[in-house]
Amino acid sequence: MCATCGCAGAGVRLVDLREHDHPHEHDHEHQHDHEHQHGTETVLIEQQLLAKNDALAGRNRDWLRTRGVAAVNLMSSPGSGKTTLLERTIRESGLRPVCVIEGDQETSFDADRITAAGAPVLQINTGAGCHLDAEMVGSALLALDPDRGVVLIENVGNLVCPALFDLGEAARVVIMSVTEGADKPRKYPHIFSSASVVVLNKIDLLPYVDFEVERFCRDLALVNPSAELLRLSATRGDGLETWYDWLRTLPDR
Ligand code: MG
Ligand code: ZN
Repeated sequence: MCATCGCAGAGVRLVDLREHDHPHEHDHEHQHDHEHQHGTETVLIEQQLLAKNDALAGRNRDWLRTRGVAAVNLMSSPGSGKTTLLERTIRESGLRPVCVIEGDQETSFDADRITAAGAPVLQINTGAGCHLDAEMVGSALLALDPDRGVVLIENVGNLVCPALFDLGEAARVVIMSVTEGADKPRKYPHIFSSASVVVLNKIDLLPYVDFEVERFCRDLALVNPSAELLRLSATRGDGLETWYDWLRTLPDR
């Protein structure tokens, strides 16, 4: 997870530094012990980090519930079409009130597009970080101050660690485009297994790419038998009504 890549914070990075502080230990037995301890320590820090995140996510969830707001955590690789889908959703679904939290490492490109589409938006720039966490989302929620309706959270484009971080959402959506290849559910099972809905986007491109829809459906069912699969094209408009219908049921759940 992120503790390994170091994106989760200074505390986690210290573990790596400490290892580099002992480069001259050639005794194999000792080295083994050291690595073993190091591994246990890393796992502990990961567990503490995730436990803290879960507690904050619980607070977000309670806060959202008292306001009658349903949050949706949208996760995907970069370039799957999340922002385009959000733009159309804001313009065409009639879903109101709706606001957006945008997660990206840098820039407010996506937030600018959401503003132009007509929804209140808050941009979170994660710097070196590759996921949103409950604390970031909690601060964004306080700033946005939503009342009823839906908050759409566009997570940082990444199919790996966003799966580990509960944000307090009512539902998780994984968006995948047909240009990414049908093997993704089995390669990245964690993110797919936690989704209520999986959106297969860019189906207008199916005639031009080598994407086996049957294999994708079969593999998704293996990883997550209860996920609802929506096939759509956010640019051409196929399947958008089904997506809007699903979103409209959220605040009543
Ligand atoms: Mg985007
Ligand atoms: Zn991360």
